[in-house]
Amino acid sequence: MLPVRCFSCGKVVSNVWEEYKQRVAEGEDAAAVLDDLGVVRYCCRRMILSHVELVDTLAPYQ
Ligand SMILES: [Zn+2]
Repeated sequence: MLPVRCFSCGKVVSNVWEEYKQRVAEGEDAAAVLDDLGVVRYCCRRMILSHVELVDTLAPYQ
C-alpha cells in the first residue's frame, strides 16, 4: 500500500501508482513516467521509487 500523500510536501501520490507501475512494467523509463505524471519534486518521487508493494505478500498472515 503506497501512502496516499507525500510525507514531506503533502502532494497526493497514490493516484499515480497504478499507472506508474503499469508503464514501467511495459518498459518505459521510470524518470520519464514520473515527469509525465506530474511527480516532479524529489520528495514525491522517492515516495514512489522507494515503494515496495507488500500488501499481497502480507495478506495471508493477517
Ligand atoms: Zn512531495
